[in-house]
Amino acid sequence: MECERLKNLIRDWYQEVRSFTLSPVKMMELVEKHVQNCEICQQDETLPLELEQLREIIRVPHKPPKENEFKFSEEVKYIYDEDLEEIEEEEI
Ligand SMILES: [Zn+2]
Repeated sequence: MECERLKNLIRDWYQEVRSFTLSPVKMMELVEKHVQNCEICQQDETLPLELEQLREIIRVPHKPPKENEFKFSEEVKYIYDEDLEEIEEEEI
């Protein structure tokens, strides 16, 4: 992965996935959206492979930290979409 911006984005999004404020599927959509608009990523030949690995990684269910267990509520699903809208607008 050669794109510093994507590295930072993935780190941020991965945090959100782990804290259940972003779904893994949505994260991959955001990643792909970035790649479509980024010349560095498009010229990175190993990126597709790395994204495949990332896809595998984020789909593995993570055991949440104890203090986050309460977040497994219906409310979290609502937060998803709102947060995502903000992220998408920032990253376009
Ligand atoms: Zn990029």
